[in-house]
Amino acid sequence: MSVLSFYNIAFKGLSQGKHIFDYEVEDKFFSVFEGGIVDEGKVQVRVTLEKQSSLMILWFDVKGSVHVQCDRCLEMYDQPVKGLERIFVKFGEKEYTEGDDVIWVSVNDYQLNVAQLIYEFICLAVPIKKVHPDDENGNSTCDPEMLDKLAKYVVKDDEIKNPVWNDLKKLLDNE
Ligand SMILES: [Zn+2]
Repeated sequence: MSVLSFYNIAFKGLSQGKHIFDYEVEDKFFSVFEGGIVDEGKVQVRVTLEKQSSLMILWFDVKGSVHVQCDRCLEMYDQPVKGLERIFVKFGEKEYTEGDDVIWVSVNDYQLNVAQLIYEFICLAVPIKKVHPDDENGNSTCDPEMLDKLAKYVVKDDEIKNPVWNDLKKLLDNE
């Protein structure tokens, strides 16, 4: 059985109303999704499924932390994540998408795998700008050595790419 089969929800036999499924996803889960922004972390996921006669509503409540790369100093850090997302599941002969928050499943299906959705909603909870959080005094907790190295590299890179800036620098140096 694959790691992800654990995330199958057998909805066919469920009664109408709300049903709760709790998961705790860790590194093993994230390692299945290659090339995404999150490879490691520990996140609690509560899936609430509301079964109605013609459709299902699923809420994904995610809370935890993920290990991601800082955009500023390039070191890894733990980013807290928290989010609540909702999708609708409708039944139809064909599987096709209608907007972002509707999933179509075949009338013959009896279970739904929520692993991909969990992964996507965790990624969605990660801020666009990923930076080490400030400490209680408002100071950056980025790696100062890495910032120094990066600053030097950026200036060097600038000199190569921008000869005008080099000329200006020579002028200023000769003053
Ligand atoms: Zn940083």
